[in-house]
Amino acid sequence: MSKYALTNANTGEVEQTFETLTPEQLPAIIDAADEAFTLWKATPIGQRGKVLRTFADLVDENADELADIIGREMGKPLAQGKSELEKVARTARWFADKAPIHLAPTELEASGAERTYVVHQPLGVLLGVMPWNFPYNQIARFVLPNLMVGNTILMKQASICPVSSQKFQELLEEAGLPRGVYTNIYMDSKDTEKILKDFRVKGVSLTGSEGAGASIASIAGENLKRQVLELGGNDPFVVLDTSDVKKLAQQAVTYRTTNAGQVCTSPKRIIVLEEYYDDFVAAAKEAVENVTVGNYDDPNTDMGPMSSESARDDVLKQIQDAVANGATLVTGGEKLDRPGWFMSPALLTDVDVESEAGQEEIFGPVVNVFKAKDEEDALRIANATEFGLMASVWTEDLERGRLFAERINAGMTFVNKHMESEPAFPFGGINRSGFGRENERWALREFTNEHLVRVH
Ligand code: NDP
Repeated sequence: MSKYALTNANTGEVEQTFETLTPEQLPAIIDAADEAFTLWKATPIGQRGKVLRTFADLVDENADELADIIGREMGKPLAQGKSELEKVARTARWFADKAPIHLAPTELEASGAERTYVVHQPLGVLLGVMPWNFPYNQIARFVLPNLMVGNTILMKQASICPVSSQKFQELLEEAGLPRGVYTNIYMDSKDTEKILKDFRVKGVSLTGSEGAGASIASIAGENLKRQVLELGGNDPFVVLDTSDVKKLAQQAVTYRTTNAGQVCTSPKRIIVLEEYYDDFVAAAKEAVENVTVGNYDDPNTDMGPMSSESARDDVLKQIQDAVANGATLVTGGEKLDRPGWFMSPALLTDVDVESEAGQEEIFGPVVNVFKAKDEEDALRIANATEFGLMASVWTEDLERGRLFAERINAGMTFVNKHMESEPAFPFGGINRSGFGRENERWALREFTNEHLVRVH
């Protein structure tokens, strides 16, 4: 059976399969993307922006159908799917509006010449390797700014999301994007090497696991290609003080069970100061038990199935391993006896932060609460990770929160919010969470030639 298939996460049934490209078919696809580059880089930026604005309108108009597709592909409840699509449309409009400003030539104050400036030019064909957890938005964050830059894209989306990834291309083309500028390809991940070896391919952006990231990074490194890697996280959610423990615990559980916990920036380690800990755990238990698990298209569903059978089984095994190593499973964490890839959300406590369960990313709905003696201890636990993606600190004293935020090792830290990603501010991590930035002007600089021109 082909690897590219729509297997309904809610039922376990294979609904559609797709042919995977052979390695021999790839050069012709690179040829087309390279030819399209000649045309696209010469297209005025205002015209590129027009395509993105029309695309945003089409995403809005087709949101119901698009959300339904990913609900089946990877189990995302419809309301969450629609909110993802709103973000895709916002991203398209943001880059259509702002890219012309951020990509205008930068004038430099350098003496000894008439004029010294930098032109921000496109590089050529780029490869995207994207995951299934936000099937549209992961693609959008990489592709939309790069279309504004003038690059062309070959996209290898996760093999469990073949319909949504094709739909993304269709909507861009309906919006006026010339053929070959963006091409969705069903290819074996091992063939990414063949693409990256081609001189005309100038860089790669991958969002996914550390394993996939390391493999792509080594191939890109060997072939001297630019890269952006958005990998996993083990994000801290630090509670310093609160006047409403119950509300905060409920919020933490909502964040952690959104998208069935399959979010790189999900708060995977909730660190609570001793004085609030017992009340927080009791409230979190109630909140976890109140999460309604169901099919993606049931309006009462808070949490759908996991994206695949293996995604669910991996998380269940991580929970069992944690318990075998001394953690307490307070509630949930069980496979549900029904078709599809369902599990109940879990609440874990007493995990040693230095143990495997404290260090590994758990990519599922597992609320993991740690007790801290005081603020310094909370900081120690927060920074006891090799990841460094997002973090949050919760306090009613905003200055206390801000100062604490600056001491966390992460690419993004929020005071009194978590899991906020918007086109208007940069997104990315440090250490094992990867490198490079998406969103805002930083997204427009990852795959450009900062071309110096000095006129004497
Ligand atoms: P993967 O990293 O395996 O998949 C993400 C993308 O990378 C898919 O398109 C996949 O293709 C591709 N891929 C996988 N291996 C390679 C490779 N060696 N070379 C090139 N491309 C590759 O994620 P999984 O779906 O297996 O999820 C496993 C874990 O990854 C999760 O538990 C989580 O920790 C992390 N993850 C993180 C995400 C994030 O947002 N940062 C998103 C998803 C996963 P294919 O589908 O064909 O295998």
